[in-house]
Amino acid sequence: MNFPLNVLKRIHENLSREKHKINTTLSSLKAQDPFSDPDRLNDNAASDTDAIEEISHERMEALEKELKRRMVDIEEALERIKKGTYGRCHSCKKMIEDERLAINPTALYCVSCERKRESKVKGK
Ligand SMILES: [Zn+2]
Repeated sequence: MNFPLNVLKRIHENLSREKHKINTTLSSLKAQDPFSDPDRLNDNAASDTDAIEEISHERMEALEKELKRRMVDIEEALERIKKGTYGRCHSCKKMIEDERLAINPTALYCVSCERKRESKVKGK
C-alpha cells in the first residue's frame, strides 16, 4: 500500500512551505541575535545588560537548534517522498497510520514502534 499521489503532493507542499518559513525565521533570528552584532565588542554596557543579552542569546540558540532539527526532519521527509518510501515505519516497515502522519507528517515510526522507543528511552 502506498499513498495516493495527490496526498503525497499535498504533504510535499506543506513541508516545503514549512521549510521556507523556518528558513525565514532562522535568518531573522540571526539578525536579532546581539552576539552577531559587530558593534557589540565596542559596547561598554553595564554588566546587567550583558546578563540579559546572554539569556536571550541562549534562548535564541535553543530555538535555532530546535528549528534546525525540525529542518532536518522535513528534509528527510521530502527525500522519502522523492524515493517513494514516505510513510513507511523505519523499524517494522509497515505503513504509518494516516492519522499519525496527519498530525506529524515527518514521523519516522508507526505508533507502536514509537511507543516501544519511548519506553526504551525512559527505561534508561
Ligand atoms: Zn513500526
